[in-house]
Amino acid sequence: MTNTQSDITAARIIYEEIVPALAPWMHDVKAGQSLRIVDLEGNQAVDFLMYNSADDAERYSAQDTMAMQGNIFLHAGTRLLSNEGRAMMSISATNVAYHDTIGGACSCESNTLRYGHFTKNQHSCVDNFLDANARAGRSKRDMVSNINFFMNVPVESDGALGIVDGISGPGLWVELKAEMDVTIVVSNCPQINNPCNGFNPTPVQMIVYE
Ligand SMILES: [Zn+2]
Repeated sequence: MTNTQSDITAARIIYEEIVPALAPWMHDVKAGQSLRIVDLEGNQAVDFLMYNSADDAERYSAQDTMAMQGNIFLHAGTRLLSNEGRAMMSISATNVAYHDTIGGACSCESNTLRYGHFTKNQHSCVDNFLDANARAGRSKRDMVSNINFFMNVPVESDGALGIVDGISGPGLWVELKAEMDVTIVVSNCPQINNPCNGFNPTPVQMIVYE
């Protein structure tokens, strides 16, 4: 489900940054503000966590989000819930059909299991999450199931998961409206062993506006 009705042209831009390929990013978004994530070159997975800025014990919950909406895909209109069952952000608009929240974040462990020991020293999303979160005093125990914007993880009728060619494209975007003050932690996914980044990780753009 897409909704491409964006109000960014009339908005006041508060913050703008290009996140380089492979890099982590952390930023606060206040209640009422919006964040647009732009997949500049297409097929770039953006691994995404968020925490309540006032108390980071409250954080994104994939389980609560999927259970509440009765659907495993994230699309325009999805409310992203916390482990307290409260809306943290909602997907106000996107021109990509759906986004994933079941594929997880790539890690040293998952890479070596799936792709072989030679991948052990490759950079991963878990490295990025730990790097960004460490600046705010968070550690491995604060890692939870994440969102993968622009990543295509279809579920077959027998329940099998795929990580396949993306349904995003150059310049496509997702817009998130904050329902509370949130701290966003992103890994611009460095994965090069499956098609989630088209085997070529690329930069993405972050725009915070109100
Ligand atoms: Zn990754």
